[in-house]
Amino acid sequence: MMQTEKFDNIIILALISLTFVVIGLHSFSLNKIFTLDTKSPYQTYAVSDLTSGGKSTAKLYTRGDKYLLDCHIIESDYAWPFCEVTFSVGVNAQNIPEQPVDLSSYSSAHVYAKYVGENTASFRFQLRTFNPNYSSPKKDSTWKYNGIEYWPNNNPYPVKIPLNAMQVATWWLYENEIPIEYASPEFDQVLVVEVATGNSISPGHYQIEIEKVEFTGKVFTNKQVFSFIIAMWIFTAIIGLIMNLYRSKAKLKTAERRAFELKQLNRLLNVESQELKDLAERDPLTGALNRKGIEHIFTNEIKIMSLMFIDIDHFKPLNDRYGHNIGDIILKDFVKLISENCRTSDFLARWGGEEFLLICPNTKVLEANELAEDLRQLIAEHNFVQNIKITASFGLAQKENETIAELIERADVALYTAKAQGRNKVIVSNNVDLL
Ligand code: GH3
Ligand code: MG
Ligand code: MG
Repeated sequence: MMQTEKFDNIIILALISLTFVVIGLHSFSLNKIFTLDTKSPYQTYAVSDLTSGGKSTAKLYTRGDKYLLDCHIIESDYAWPFCEVTFSVGVNAQNIPEQPVDLSSYSSAHVYAKYVGENTASFRFQLRTFNPNYSSPKKDSTWKYNGIEYWPNNNPYPVKIPLNAMQVATWWLYENEIPIEYASPEFDQVLVVEVATGNSISPGHYQIEIEKVEFTGKVFTNKQVFSFIIAMWIFTAIIGLIMNLYRSKAKLKTAERRAFELKQLNRLLNVESQELKDLAERDPLTGALNRKGIEHIFTNEIKIMSLMFIDIDHFKPLNDRYGHNIGDIILKDFVKLISENCRTSDFLARWGGEEFLLICPNTKVLEANELAEDLRQLIAEHNFVQNIKITASFGLAQKENETIAELIERADVALYTAKAQGRNKVIVSNNVDLL
């Protein structure tokens, strides 16, 4: 019991430690970064309103490991003049969607971009994304505008933009007649990343230095991590429950086996005590009761009782002739014969060598006389071992107002009479007035 409790505690401690390790790993490491800079494999180029009918011009240069966008904003009929740097992460050279990048698992964008010199203009940061429900590959105006406008002078450099701070441009929703269900920002199929001049930029010459754009996120989402932790606890709990069930089943089995063993032992002890009782109360040769074995019958207050004294006739010469062993066998068979032919309520005891007492409770001497007569005949007719024939003499007495010793004495006298009258006889004690 102590052992298994200790084991359980170790498991719980291990689970708690593992939980902390997982949370720690998730919080302080296991970060992922997606970087766009001069070394990234995507095509990066300058765009201006020139392509939309305006007059502004933009050129992109590489200066060391940074980009430099040289921009001339020129007024024209085009209402929103602009310059921008485009990182084409998911489109090919023909501006057709090819391998959109999934940025949905990233949480922030870090924009390393600034105006060179004294300038207070704003920036637009945009992710153009594809969704087959409303986008067409060849028409880039159907690609969603997820963007944010910010003032670099009002934010620490680099500017950290949480992706959930981005919004879909309302003019784009209007022009493409987008249903509300698709009106939220989406980042799972990013085609281009853009850093552009702000909305109402004044005409003039601008230089924009762009070091990089970095998307950061966690390898696993909070939901994944907590699902994992909960699953881990539940799994361990289930395993623990199953193990406990198995353990208590095994315990039950052991208890049952022990109970069974105790029962067996008890039975054995009962058998042994019965054997001891038999040893004390029975004659080992014939199995008949001994003198001690009939004591309890005499101490019982039985009102009516008859007693039979039985003695084998001329047993000594038989012994002499056939040997002591044959004599023993005859004694055994003699007891067997009487036992099988008296009533179950009678008690047969070996009184001495070849003398026996048959005690008949609740029996008047007249009835006992009949039984004795039957037994006498049976004995005389029975073929004992080696076809030896024997007879026996019977002395009967019914209990009167006397002691047991006196009763036995009277039966003995009757037996003596039977012997004297030639043996193989039943004699009833004469001073009985109950006849
Ligand atoms: P009676 O008709 O007068 O009874 O003659 P008896 O020979 O039977 O009488 P007695 O009392 O002289 O002899 C009893 C004999 O019983 C003596 C002994 O050899 C024999 N005997 C007593 N106990 C045993 C025994 O346990 N085994 C054997 N084989 N013989 C026994
Ligand atoms: Mg005898
Ligand atoms: Mg005798």
